[in-house]
Amino acid sequence: MHNVVDFIQELYQTKEFLPLHEPRFIGNEKKYINEAIDSTFVSSVGKYVTQFEEMVAKFSGAKYAVATSNGTSALHISLKLVGVDESCEVITQPLTFIATANAISYCNAKPIFVDVDRETLGLSPLKLKEFLEEFATIDENGDCINKSTNKIIKACVPMHTFGHPCKIDEIVAICDSYNIAVVEDAAESLGTYYKGKHTGSFGKVGVFSFNGNKIITTGGGGILVTDDEELAKRAKHITTTAKVAHPYEYIHDEVGYNYRLTNLAAALGVAQMENLQLFVDKQRELAQKYENFFKDSEIEFIKEPQDAKSNYWLNALIFKDKQTRDAFLKYTNDNGIMTRSIWRLMNQLDMFKDAQCANLDNSQYLADRVVNISSSVVL
Ligand SMILES: *Cc1c(COP(=O)(O)O)cnc(C)c1O
Repeated sequence: MHNVVDFIQELYQTKEFLPLHEPRFIGNEKKYINEAIDSTFVSSVGKYVTQFEEMVAKFSGAKYAVATSNGTSALHISLKLVGVDESCEVITQPLTFIATANAISYCNAKPIFVDVDRETLGLSPLKLKEFLEEFATIDENGDCINKSTNKIIKACVPMHTFGHPCKIDEIVAICDSYNIAVVEDAAESLGTYYKGKHTGSFGKVGVFSFNGNKIITTGGGGILVTDDEELAKRAKHITTTAKVAHPYEYIHDEVGYNYRLTNLAAALGVAQMENLQLFVDKQRELAQKYENFFKDSEIEFIKEPQDAKSNYWLNALIFKDKQTRDAFLKYTNDNGIMTRSIWRLMNQLDMFKDAQCANLDNSQYLADRVVNISSSVVL
């Protein structure tokens, strides 16, 4: 294990404490933030918000993008806009960051947990199909009904884990045949392609996060992307307090949200977007070095799946068992290298313990064995 620590310290040219993923500010960040301050437009209106939305839309190949206060709020609004409410259930994977499941709860809907694939770490189309064949039926309104609960399965939220895409084309095809809307949790996968198409652009809506630990950051922020003009307009409206345009009166036509991204944050985002491709290229070089290092080891380095071009946002290892994994976590953290286990399964957390679950063998296998290692961009 000491040779792993040596290798990582060599990669980053430091013996100081190494965080898992720290941001890099090497471009116009200060310039644009100063411009935003000088313009006095620091808050919810300003040119950087629009510019940031246009840049992300263009990069991800979507027609429209709506910036929000964070990735979680973008997920919440996306689910709401595809019609998720208290009468609904939403299929997702148990192996994900808590925000995915929380967003479902914010809509007062219930999550259903379906297993992931071992090689993508994302929702398994095969397991999804099996679940739907056993439990789903389409009613006279065209809604997909869960026969075991009589609730509507309205949406499915696959997640592209650590920047590796799941088999999203197959998932969308299955969901289409059951009238289930796909909201892609692409929070971790800006810069990732599957079969040549950017993640987040396969489903009805896709969501990216710009939290401080993501591949680029706005300090805190999120965005939803879609090709559906109506949905994009609705998203802008309800994330900005549902205010109706009027020269001097306050009129709001429904309960809206204050989920806006500030112009200051967007200024940071525009500067970061200018370097996104460079960061992705560097992450892929770093991943290649890890891959070579672990080639003949007992520890498996997680490589991008077939048909994928991953952003390698977080590098990850699979250990042969939980014991070895836990020993590695302890050793590295004791020696100044921050490493983290993958998430505990959502269905094992208190608030989701009663959720319906399919067989989750792959998720459990990974939950016991996966670790994230140093992944800051090396310039
Ligand atoms: C980061 C992340 C989010 C959103 O997080 P915010 O901190 O709210 O921006 C959502 N889902 C996943 C899988 C994430 O990793």
